[in-house]
Amino acid sequence: MMTTELPGLYIHVPFCSSKCPYCDFYSLVASDELKDRYTDALIKNIILYNNQVGGAFSTVYFGGGTPSLLGSERLSSILNNVSRTPDCEVTVECNPSDLCKNWSFKDMEALVKAGANRISMGMQSAVDEERKALGRQADREQVKRAVELVKSAGIDNFSLDLMLGIPHQTIDSIKESIEFCAENGAKHVSSYLLKIEQGTPFEKVEKLLNLPDEDECCDMYLAACKCLEEHGYKQYEISNFAVPSYESRHNLIYWDCREYLGLGASAHSFIGGKRFYFERDINKFIEEAQPIQDGEGGSFEEYVMLRLRLNEGLQSDQVRARFGFDIPPEMLERARKFEKNGMAKVTETSISLTTEGFLVSNAIIANLLN
Ligand code: SF4
Repeated sequence: MMTTELPGLYIHVPFCSSKCPYCDFYSLVASDELKDRYTDALIKNIILYNNQVGGAFSTVYFGGGTPSLLGSERLSSILNNVSRTPDCEVTVECNPSDLCKNWSFKDMEALVKAGANRISMGMQSAVDEERKALGRQADREQVKRAVELVKSAGIDNFSLDLMLGIPHQTIDSIKESIEFCAENGAKHVSSYLLKIEQGTPFEKVEKLLNLPDEDECCDMYLAACKCLEEHGYKQYEISNFAVPSYESRHNLIYWDCREYLGLGASAHSFIGGKRFYFERDINKFIEEAQPIQDGEGGSFEEYVMLRLRLNEGLQSDQVRARFGFDIPPEMLERARKFEKNGMAKVTETSISLTTEGFLVSNAIIANLLN
């Protein structure tokens, strides 16, 4: 019997050991008892979904929060309840300081046995002063030890996060962090500009943070893209870079506007053309897990917005296969304006943004969609 392949499963783990001053993700400090109850609720919902729909997930992504705080045993018991395709990509986000303090080789080995084959680590910077400014607990040596632990358990597919535009950062210090990624064998780097989110401690002291201005941030982004490329990391999305064939299959589902199921407090889903989400309330998820409807998804406009985040951009044959028409000629025409100043590449059948174009992607996409 053929098994239906489900595209992707995202599991949100809303636990952190403390709150970083720039972060507005839903997360809290939790007791072991709460972690157990949350794990049970996740498993209950996974079983429920599998019973209703059947099939096997092609990717599983534990995001957070800090999924590694659930510990190897709970993560493995969740994974053991997920039907997966034989080549399923299973990513677990880990915090380096948590791995150093609380994880042994045996824990990591057990997680690998349960099916984890990709680790994403919140490094943010390999420079201790910068990590400190972000309120991160691990120092460079601990990040290194965490990486060693992951590698010793046989996982070579791991990603390090790199933040740009943080206090005290310079182009030289960004290069130092990228060199650290390459030297330590990371196959993937996610590189995001620090955004000051409303309601975070950073917002309250923004003026005192000595942050680089907009022009400096643009220079940092362009320098990071160039340096990553020089170290063998090919850009495939605005903020993501990988050694060829190590792109995140799970995240490509989002940018290709394909469907996924999100489980856990604050997790979002896109299934059957509908979007829905669970509230940012862990108790509600544990007690009833009733998703809130969030309208239709997958329109042409949404597809354009997501696909133009990718280096591959918009391709007429893919647009036709999905919507029954080619890229509209007037959209190609508008895109040619941006090609003249080096922001886009345009052919008769495709539009993609350049690295410079990614810096102003929102404005370009708004113009293309007119
Ligand atoms: S560890 Fe990650 S999710 Fe947790 S508070 Fe810090 S940035 Fe946010």
